[in-house]
Amino acid sequence: MPSPSPDGQSGQRRPALHATDPEIAALVRDEERLQTETLRMIASENYVSTAVLEATGTVLTNKYSEGYPGRRYYEGQQVVDPVEELACARARALFRAEHANVQPYSGSPANLALYLAFAKPGDAVLGMSLPMGGHLTHGWDVSATGRWFRSSSYGVRRDTGRIDLDEVRSIALHERPKLIFCGGTAVPRAIDFAAFAEIAREVGAVLVADIAHIAGLVAAGVHPSPIGHADVVSTTTHKTLRGPRGAMILCGAEHAKAVDKAVFPGLQGGPHNHTTAAIAVALREAATPEFGAYARAVVANARRLGEELAARGFDLVSGGTDTHLLLVDLTSRGVPGKPAAKALDRAGIVVNHNAVPYDTRRPFDPSGIRIGTPALTSRGIGEEHMPLVATWIDRVVDAVRTGRTGVEEQVRAEVRELTAAYPAPGLPVD
Ligand SMILES: *Cc1c(COP(=O)(O)O)cnc(C)c1O
Repeated sequence: MPSPSPDGQSGQRRPALHATDPEIAALVRDEERLQTETLRMIASENYVSTAVLEATGTVLTNKYSEGYPGRRYYEGQQVVDPVEELACARARALFRAEHANVQPYSGSPANLALYLAFAKPGDAVLGMSLPMGGHLTHGWDVSATGRWFRSSSYGVRRDTGRIDLDEVRSIALHERPKLIFCGGTAVPRAIDFAAFAEIAREVGAVLVADIAHIAGLVAAGVHPSPIGHADVVSTTTHKTLRGPRGAMILCGAEHAKAVDKAVFPGLQGGPHNHTTAAIAVALREAATPEFGAYARAVVANARRLGEELAARGFDLVSGGTDTHLLLVDLTSRGVPGKPAAKALDRAGIVVNHNAVPYDTRRPFDPSGIRIGTPALTSRGIGEEHMPLVATWIDRVVDAVRTGRTGVEEQVRAEVRELTAAYPAPGLPVD
């Protein structure tokens, strides 16, 4: 049913917001439309369920609860304590961890808390370099973690596109870091947590596995788990895990106190209780067989899309993927990453431009794009659609190179046909 006016439906769905602030109501409605009509392929994004959305929008946002369940600095915790206890218990059960802290506001503060827990300013730390696929908070120089700590970085091998564990070991032996980070934002291949743990043990470092991107895959057993290898695991809750924006830290009992103290009072004040509730809901969902099937489909989609792109002459970093994402070097296609990503966006396929290992272009205008399958898989789009998606990407990228017009509009119309057939979780059906 077409909506009567551009923001008519937001008035129906959110009458109070519409009455109080029609500008924001209309923008929310626009974002809903965008998320409905486009193929969202940013590797860190997803669609949360309606249940998670509902938990996020509750009166729990009104409550202050500095401290931890049973040890708070404010009264009136009769409801908030069991909410946080449920979230922690579900996190421990899902990941088989001895301890869980669900209070970090997001992935970056979760990682900062680990520096506070296990290192002092000026200490050596080691992480994957940002342009090779690491995260800012793993010691990159523009981040506080790179400015306040003596950070060094490892990368991937030029010939294989895979993490160079010999390099990790030799830097670790030379620099003697207090903290070693593994995991990243543009790592298409499975992380060898056992190998990282061996290196960390050899040099006496605390190993942090940052599974922000792959937490949902780990929960479902589709990616090996770092539990039992890494001393501490940090993760966001909003990527493949399909929860609200937030984060968690998991660890063994021996590190529980240090981690909790670092998050509060070390770094944060009151936890975001509405987010904690939504994390609990997402963890309950992630423990279901349906979520297991979802995670397997995410990886199957990425693998199939990789094969289809490779067959069309696209150059995949590391030759493929074990996870939810592909890193594509567009150099051989004669198109830089940014114009390709912008053209794909206009065609209704949303990806991000991304540096590739040993990129000769500048970070703001790199050679590649990163493509992820978590969000479209949440709509039920499957492997059988990947040849079509690869064809769209191929046509749009080729049109950027040749300057051919009309292709973006054509693809956009075709994308809309597919997205209309696969409604997204949490969004209204027009
Ligand atoms: C996304 C991500 C983060 C940071 O999460 P934010 O919630 O954006 O702060 C940290 N580490 C890795 C590996 C990530 O992918």
